[in-house]
Amino acid sequence: MLTSLRHIIQEVSGAERFQDALEISVKRIADALSTQACSIFLLDRQHGEYVLVATHGLNPQAVHKVRVPINKGLIGLVGEREEPINIDDASKHPRFLQVPEVKEEAYRAFLGTPLIYHRQVLGVLIVQQHDPRRYDESEEAFLVTLATQLASIIAHAEATGALAELLASSKGKRHELVYAGVPGAPGIGMGKGVVIYTPNDLETIPDREPEDIAAEVNLLETAFAAVREDLRLLGERLYPSLPTEERALFDVYQRILDSSDLGKEITDVIRRGNWAPGALREVVMAHARHLETLDNEYMHERADDMKDLGRRVLAYLQQNDRAQPDYHEKTILIGESITPTDLAEVPEGCLAGVISAKGSSNSHVAILARAMKVPTVMGVEDAPIHELQDKNMIVDGYYGQIYVSPSSSLSAEFERLIQEERKLDATLEEIRDLPAVTKDGHRIALLVNTGLGADISISLEAGAEGVGLYRTEIPFLMRDRFPSAEEQRIIYRQLLASFAPRPVTIRTLDVGGDKPLPYFPITEDNPFLGWRGIRITLDHPEIFLSQLRAMMRASEGLNNMQIMLPMITDVTEVDEALRLLRKAYTEVCDEGYNIKMPAIGVMIEVPSAVYQARMLAKRVDFLSVGSNDLTQYLLAVDRNNPRVASLYDALHPSVLRALIQIVENGHQEGKHISICGEMAGDPAAVMLLLAMGFDSLSMNASSIGRVKWLIRHFARKKAAKLLHEVLGMESAVMIRCHMELALERAGLGSLIRAGR
Ligand code: PEP
Ligand code: MG
Repeated sequence: MLTSLRHIIQEVSGAERFQDALEISVKRIADALSTQACSIFLLDRQHGEYVLVATHGLNPQAVHKVRVPINKGLIGLVGEREEPINIDDASKHPRFLQVPEVKEEAYRAFLGTPLIYHRQVLGVLIVQQHDPRRYDESEEAFLVTLATQLASIIAHAEATGALAELLASSKGKRHELVYAGVPGAPGIGMGKGVVIYTPNDLETIPDREPEDIAAEVNLLETAFAAVREDLRLLGERLYPSLPTEERALFDVYQRILDSSDLGKEITDVIRRGNWAPGALREVVMAHARHLETLDNEYMHERADDMKDLGRRVLAYLQQNDRAQPDYHEKTILIGESITPTDLAEVPEGCLAGVISAKGSSNSHVAILARAMKVPTVMGVEDAPIHELQDKNMIVDGYYGQIYVSPSSSLSAEFERLIQEERKLDATLEEIRDLPAVTKDGHRIALLVNTGLGADISISLEAGAEGVGLYRTEIPFLMRDRFPSAEEQRIIYRQLLASFAPRPVTIRTLDVGGDKPLPYFPITEDNPFLGWRGIRITLDHPEIFLSQLRAMMRASEGLNNMQIMLPMITDVTEVDEALRLLRKAYTEVCDEGYNIKMPAIGVMIEVPSAVYQARMLAKRVDFLSVGSNDLTQYLLAVDRNNPRVASLYDALHPSVLRALIQIVENGHQEGKHISICGEMAGDPAAVMLLLAMGFDSLSMNASSIGRVKWLIRHFARKKAAKLLHEVLGMESAVMIRCHMELALERAGLGSLIRAGR
């Protein structure tokens, strides 16, 4: 049974369309269990009904027509109980429901099992037989195992919108294509898709309408001829020394290329309206997928050959490809894994939104998008990325959703929300130069995080009172070698001079984790628990000292610089870093620079530092909480992994308690306590941070106006009350709801969603 189980899953997973997958499932399951009927009912939550979506053995006319109320019949019972129900004569069961359209009168034996994914019932899978009998244990186990696999395919269809489309079509409605990800940067973006793909990566090539079909066909033919010639030359060179078996491989390649079928298939797809690279991907991947489903090692290898050949042809197709895509006036940038450089390449004023299949709200590209005020959705893993080129789209960065080819009424609704956002921005502009002070007179400093390529002028325009975190990684990431001390000095000088006399906190190099340097490769099983931040720089004092000297030289005559150490886990790291800082200071003074020793701070971003906050505070001038990493390490949730994004919330009670402890310990030592993680710009968190006693909040430039508006609307007494209330709560979900409700009640709902 194990083999047939594997076969069924392989075949079902290889199906092109969701409906095909369902139909293959019922047919194969019925065969495998030698039973007369097998059917799938999927739950339409919106209408509270199970819909018959595929059957082998019941009335095929009833598919997509028959709907069973969620609390009725044996189907409803399987869903309610969330476990299999095995009955020898279903018609005698008190929950039996007669549905004449399905024509199941002849069936007695019934075995139904729920289709559950991530604790949610998605539907019910049933098998039936004429003669009364109980399905035996092994049959039941088979069906349950298959149901778990099938559930993940259905969940995928749910995420891609295919399920909703199927259910809506059975109700005769038009369905908007909506894909869910996680919020990356707030705001609503409307525009046309531009898909960024990796050259030579066949699988990421998007579909695109060709400008000139004949030219595309021509390109394909030329590429085929070139690959044929390459293979011939390779063969000629290698044949004398090649054993017969390896020669056969070249023969296979040549044969695939020579078979007029492949070229014809691709040409057909081009003629149907796809450019040559897209058509090549479509045909080659379909063949490869088919070969992979066959239960034969030899055929699996042919799938790899097919893809290899596809890549060779692609390389020729892309030879004359322009490096820059054609951006639209309102570009929605889409890709498997969008990078900060991809954002930078879009011409100024043309970037309306960003969609990345990978990554999460705390990925550095999302942080940059927030700084640039570009609505962004991350982790949209199930969206068909390669189909989105030139499609009209809406990016809802508040809810983390994207809409493809929206209806005109939906577009009009989002246009209205954008107008309301503009009004809010105008209000924020009015308070730009006013202080962040609560209604009862408590003042808190609002600073900006910069460094991920974000423009200094954006930060100044936002009304920042200084820089709370300058990430020095970018000048290091953008080069093909370590930047020289002089190159660094110039960058730091410009930053310090632009903000002077306002304070600027420069963080020492924090690479590793999700910020690898291209010219300093680090291969580790667990990069986030590995060699990153201060661990690298202390192991390479020459890099560290060069950076410290550059910072100090840059500060001459301005004296507005503070230096901050990332990823501190132990007091000995601080002691060693302080020794090197003093060394750099003496050296720079010896060079003749007239500077003051800058204030030194430590980032609290790993749990061990929370428990040693007081000892750390004793050694330095200030502490700054890196809540992005602190949340990741306290909750053991990867900040970049969209699959666990729902578990990543800085409002988790444990994180809040850790923050209170840090502030108390730091203040006991009389030190300034700041927070520079994304939490500092999260409207739902700001009042809590204020009540905890943070002295300053450092955030993305785009958040400063909103946070100031919020602070000016609240009294600190009210914030203290809210903190007291949430400390009595046990989960992040409850705390977030409570805080959002408080914002709504204060008339500030527009800070957390679009619209008034
Ligand atoms: C943090 O971890 O909260 C932080 C500010 O640093 P980064 O996001 O650069 O890791
Ligand atoms: Mg960090």
